[in-house]
Amino acid sequence: MQITRLRLSGFKSFVDPADLRIEPGLTGIVGPNGCGKSNLLEALRWTMGETSARSLRGAGMEDVIFAGTSTRPARDFAEVAMLTEIDGTETEIVRRIERGAGSAYRIDGRDVRAKDVSLLFADAATGAHSPALVSQGRISAVIAAKPAERRAMLEEAAGIAGLHVRRRDAEARLRATEANLAKLDELISDQD
Ligand code: ATP
Repeated sequence: MQITRLRLSGFKSFVDPADLRIEPGLTGIVGPNGCGKSNLLEALRWTMGETSARSLRGAGMEDVIFAGTSTRPARDFAEVAMLTEIDGTETEIVRRIERGAGSAYRIDGRDVRAKDVSLLFADAATGAHSPALVSQGRISAVIAAKPAERRAMLEEAAGIAGLHVRRRDAEARLRATEANLAKLDELISDQD
């Protein structure tokens, strides 16, 4: 998967709409301290479905919305749109959060669940927790990771993380069906 474009509006320090094209190859973000380099990486992870406000350096998820400065009022929403390309097919993923209303996701203009977005990225061997997104402090975290955590990273890199989610779903459906069958057996034997 290639991320080709990122559009931000109201996300953290990006109060004004910003439109970034990401060309093939290695991309570097440079700028003075506090200019928003880490915020950009966090915007990527947030759009991919990050659920932990702490890992986005906030106390609550609404902390990603521009909080205002001495000269500009706070915003009511934040929105990030990410354009991706897989095998020549373009897909746009949008996440939006409004104060008091929570997050909503869209894939190519269709309203979808957070899980649909996670699966889309898991199938493309990436996601909010992908080791390919290397934030500050992440390298030492990888070195210190326990074997099970390293295995999860390798599985994600190999593109089988999405299969695990589907397997858990299938197992839950199987258990529900078994419970229904047991109920049915009881009903049938009550009638006998
Ligand atoms: P460094 O080089 O020091 O790591 P950086 O370029 O990575 O810095 P970031 O950490 O991405 O910078 O940006 C920090 C800036 O973002 C701070 O000025 C902070 O006030 C601002 N910021 C973070 N969240 C919000 C928010 N919700 N509303 C407004 N500004 C915010």
